[in-house]
Amino acid sequence: MFVRVAVPIPSTKTFTYSVPGHLEASAALGKRVLVPFGKKRLTGWIVETLSAAPEQTVREIIDLPDPEPFFNRQDLDYFEWISRYYICPLGKVLGEILPGGTDGKIEKMISRSAGNVSDIKLTEKQKALIDFLQGKGEIPVAGLPVRLREASFLRRLEQKGVILLRKQPLMRKPVFTTEIGCNKNAIQPNEAQEKALHEIYGCLSSRLFSPCLLHGVTGSGKTEVYLRAIDATLQNGGGAIYLVPEIALTTQLLSRIRERFPERAIAVMHSGISQGARHDQWKQLCRGDIRLVVGARSALFAPVRDLRLIVVDEEHDPSYKQDDRLRYNARDLAVVRGKFEQATVILGSATPGVQTYFQAMGGRYRYLSLPCRVDEHPLPLVEVVDMRTQRDGQGRTPLLSLPLVEALRETIKDRKQALLFLNRRGFHTFLFCPDCGHVFACPSCDLALTNHAALGVLKCHHCDFTTKPPALCPACGAGHIRSQGAGTERAVEETKKLFPEARIVRMDSDTTSRKGDTERILAKLDRQEIDILIGTQMITKGHDFPEITLVGVLAADASLNIPDFRASERTFQILTQVSGRGGRGDQKGRVVVQTFNPGHYAIRRAQDHDYAGYYEDELPIRRELGYPPFSRLIGIHFSGLKQTEGKRAVTDIGKRIRELAATVTEGEVDVIGPAESPLARLRGRYRWQMLLRGPHSGPLHLLAEKVIEERRSGLDIQVDVDPVHFM
Ligand code: ADP
Ligand code: ZN
Repeated sequence: MFVRVAVPIPSTKTFTYSVPGHLEASAALGKRVLVPFGKKRLTGWIVETLSAAPEQTVREIIDLPDPEPFFNRQDLDYFEWISRYYICPLGKVLGEILPGGTDGKIEKMISRSAGNVSDIKLTEKQKALIDFLQGKGEIPVAGLPVRLREASFLRRLEQKGVILLRKQPLMRKPVFTTEIGCNKNAIQPNEAQEKALHEIYGCLSSRLFSPCLLHGVTGSGKTEVYLRAIDATLQNGGGAIYLVPEIALTTQLLSRIRERFPERAIAVMHSGISQGARHDQWKQLCRGDIRLVVGARSALFAPVRDLRLIVVDEEHDPSYKQDDRLRYNARDLAVVRGKFEQATVILGSATPGVQTYFQAMGGRYRYLSLPCRVDEHPLPLVEVVDMRTQRDGQGRTPLLSLPLVEALRETIKDRKQALLFLNRRGFHTFLFCPDCGHVFACPSCDLALTNHAALGVLKCHHCDFTTKPPALCPACGAGHIRSQGAGTERAVEETKKLFPEARIVRMDSDTTSRKGDTERILAKLDRQEIDILIGTQMITKGHDFPEITLVGVLAADASLNIPDFRASERTFQILTQVSGRGGRGDQKGRVVVQTFNPGHYAIRRAQDHDYAGYYEDELPIRRELGYPPFSRLIGIHFSGLKQTEGKRAVTDIGKRIRELAATVTEGEVDVIGPAESPLARLRGRYRWQMLLRGPHSGPLHLLAEKVIEERRSGLDIQVDVDPVHFM
């Protein structure tokens, strides 16, 4: 017998091995396998079993360490699709997706036998054990008092027929943490929820691929719809996957989910789950013992059997994109998996991605909408503060504007809570004019230019356009041009100065680096031990806290001016999401947005809670500049230790690919760059990037594969299909 094996190496080849007689019975597709590879031993996976001998002589496999396979033929079809689409070798894809680890310990279980034992003579010690087991059912032997645990003692009792001993694998489970913000009352779906659910039930019973966009404003009860759809799926014997963008969100969600589904029926998967628990849950899913998986992006790959529903909550969230090893987007792959398995896919958001909405408007996704908040709670009132008009005593722009300070004062007086949000993108600094709000942008890419203060230049990180910053603003002629700055730390300092009595807490990547930090902060917020929470991106997500009545956005422009064609989409999303955190309870929420650019459509539309209007403003711009959804993109990242040689090699490759684009793809593909990356140097490596753009993915993939063929020593090349981050 022979097998074809995928090993996690950077090659698209798979390798054939022979199986020695004693392993033949257990060799099967999906099994992990230890093989000799060159001088090393590698762990790979069997992707095919062959009966005919190959032409060349092949080596023997060494071992098959697990009793069960990790995937079946249908899973493999999907994994192979992923490997082709993301241009990543199958062995690497499997290495990323499949759990490592080995089977857990064997656990010994004990119970009283069912028969009548009253006429069997027992010693005092034996009686003590029987008494101990009384009414307990089956328990682990490890749970017995030490003196009753001795193996020979138990064996004798087993022989007498008084007790039953049994071995079973010990299942490692993720640890469920604190409960926060759960709603214990039974909920009656409102009319809009009923309508959406009616359609979803129809999709589910059709057993056909049914992608849906659930577009519901913040607080409209989307989660309730997901949970009912999952319930219906499980009731009918199907399986479901529920994705949330961040680990922190799984905590809050899990407390809501556990009110409905028994804990043992849920698998939890994300990067914080131990390898052992991942391994065991994987096997339980493969066997069909668990049919619901909840988690962050990696949960999408869970081997749920008879998968009928995939929920992607906050589908617009950039953290569904993974940016190392296997660069995939779980939102996109959820739709692909739905197609493979003829499942219903619900993409839910208050601010759908432009591409998702485009699909829905084109009729390719079913459009479901929840237009109002539950219980008719109004959406918060959004106030935009024009920072061009705000000056402190020394004529400088303050971090907190007067209207925001006033609003904070009132909130604290009313014993309510406030969120202050600062979207700090550390290294990206842009130049702007505080008098008119003008931002220096690339004339051909329409992206904010990055300010390189040390070099005294402004640079475009798509096309390498470079210019010197002028002394006077070209728009208004004033001479106060400066760069954007200030992080959360300074925001905390300034706020403390203004409100020395308030309990102020910071939440950003610095204060949440240890496990459980985020949960601790959110639990404090839930218990109202925080008056003002100041933080980055992470405070904008999904949380539902009724006592938050004020949300302040300190610098809306920070996200508006990142060098990324989705900058305004991000800004609209962030502003809408962060506004949605306010006024969840009975109090009307209030939002104060500080900006130098109050006229920008992303800000105006967010102020009006007008998604459709935003989309109408955005789409023509995308069309004109040829960005998605009107094109597809593949990003190529180069990096090397030596600057001059790296740059020469990259320029060379760029030239070569441009020629190929002109001939092979007949000019259908644009080659943008190569240019220095915005993060021009990272961990000692110099970085460049190039963008391939075209209407169809075939020619783009072809060129990307050509780029990889150009790989040379000292230069690392990473391909990023459908890039999300451009750093
Ligand atoms: P979303 O996910 O759209 O932001 P949620 O599903 O979290 O909204 O719902 C917001 C709040 O409203 C939650 O506390 C939820 O329990 C509650 N809720 C949802 N649906 C209803 C309903 N039909 N009636 C009353 N309360 C509801
Ligand atoms: Zn440019």
